[in-house]
This record gives sequence, C-alpha cells and structure tokens, in this order.
Amino acid sequence: MVRPKKHLGQHFLTDENIAEKIVGTISGHKEYQSLIEIGAGTGILTELLLEKITIDFHVIEIDTESISFLKEAYPQIVENLHEADFLKYDLNKLFPETFGIIGNFPYNISSQIFFKVLEYRHQVMEVVGMIQKEVAQRLCSPPGNKTYGILSVLLQAFYDLKYEFTVPPNVFNPPPKVDSAVISLKRNDVEKLDCDEKFFFRVVKQGFNNRRKTLRNALKPLVAVPVTIVEQPLLNQRAEQLSVEDFITLTNWLQDFQKSQSTVSET
Ligand code: SAH
Repeated sequence: MVRPKKHLGQHFLTDENIAEKIVGTISGHKEYQSLIEIGAGTGILTELLLEKITIDFHVIEIDTESISFLKEAYPQIVENLHEADFLKYDLNKLFPETFGIIGNFPYNISSQIFFKVLEYRHQVMEVVGMIQKEVAQRLCSPPGNKTYGILSVLLQAFYDLKYEFTVPPNVFNPPPKVDSAVISLKRNDVEKLDCDEKFFFRVVKQGFNNRRKTLRNALKPLVAVPVTIVEQPLLNQRAEQLSVEDFITLTNWLQDFQKSQSTVSET
C-alpha cells in the first residue's frame, strides 16, 4: 500500500460509488485526443478510467511510491505513467493537440492547476476535478458575490463551469478537514476574447488585488484614470460586481483611454 503523505495532498478516495460518479461526469465534450489524470495515487479513478476510456490515456503523478504501486497494479499503462510534477510538466511534449483533464486534485495546488489549464486553454477541452468545496463554489460563483474572484472570471471567460456534487470527508483516507466537491469545465466556443487577452488578464488580476476598492482606484497601478473622467461607469464599481462581458468592455475602454493619453502627450 501507499502511505498517505500530507505534503503531497494525498487523501485517497475509498468509495467506489463516488469514484464511478466522478468518472461518469466526463462527457467527451468536443472530442479530444488524450485524457490526463493528475495524481492517480492508489488508482481508484485510474482503474475505472482504464475500463471506460478508449482514447489515449496518461497519468501524471509526482509520488515515487504511488508510481511503483500503479506500475504493479496496472501494468497495461506503464508506458503512460509519468512520474512528474504536473505544474512543471511541459504538456506540449506529449500532448500537442487537444486533451481533457481529470483527477482528485491535490488541494494545496488546485488553483495553480487551474491557472495552468488557462495557459493551455486552446487545448484543454474538458476538466473534471475534485477540489475543496469552498474553492469549487468560488470558481463557479456568479458576479455580485463575495466569493467571486480572479479564477472565477478567467475560467468562466473560456469554460462553462458546473458544480457537480459535494463529497464528505469520511470517504477519504485520511479524511481531509474540509468538504470536497467535484466540478466540471467544458470549453465554450470563444476562440479569442473580444479584447486584448493579455491586458484582460492583467485588468482582472489587478482589479481583484484590491477587491474592496472601486476599479478606478484598484486599477491605478495599471492605468490611472482621473476622477474627472466620468463616462465609464464600470470604474465606479468593484471587481466582484463585473461580469466577464463587463471586464471585456472595460479592458477595451482602458486601452482606448491609454492610447488617447499617449497621443495627447506626444503632441
Ligand atoms: N486520485 C487518487 C489520489 C488523490 S490525492 C484518489 O482519488 O485516491 C492527490 C494525488 O496527487 C496524490 O496521489 C499526490 O501524490 C498527487 N500529487 C500531488 N502533487 C502533485 C503534482 N504537483 N503533480 C502530480 N501529482 C501530484
């Protein structure tokens, strides 16, 4: 057996029904070329995936002990077991085309996993992941809510998110201190946002950095818009009040404003 290691976020799922439910959540939406499981641990999901999945299937697991266990238990995927840190892994080496991601994620790095999903948003067509319940609620949260944050906006810009179901602590070994939840993300049809995407990411991040301030103040380090300029009402709101569409509108407005300023100073 594999001894659960706290620093690797190892909480092994012990309930077969829940494992079935997680695996059953994959829809194969926008058919993709490969499926990656992050952190297979003792393989409760892996075993079911091997039965169900007919496409190219890979596991990325950081723990040497789990990897040896999995090699013994599932010799049929030895070649597709990668002992590596998912966060550092260059996914394009193995997955030059589209793929899906599934896993009972290590909770300590779940946000970083989602930032990596965003980095590969042109290739990641679907994600099914178990994470801490509170984080799941945050990611799926609509605007106008205290829990709505950077990742909610960024992920919702490119994915349809769904809070699938809650999972109690007692079905894990060892039980985590928090409730868990499974969420799914399906790539939407937005190839490219209707604005400069790099700048959009910066506006969203900076806006939430000071989430209690109005955007006029929170965005000062990025673009200082004088209080005398009143024609952009979004600036008088706080980041948590803006929808994805609002952020796109604001990104475009800020860029135009910046341009108009530089022309003024040049002349
Ligand atoms: N899927 C298993 C294990 C979940 S625990 C189950 O449901 O029982 C989370 C797993 O992620 C552990 O096996 C842990 O070793 C692995 N892990 C932790 N950090 C990782 C990282 N950076 N990259 C890949 N795997 C990681």
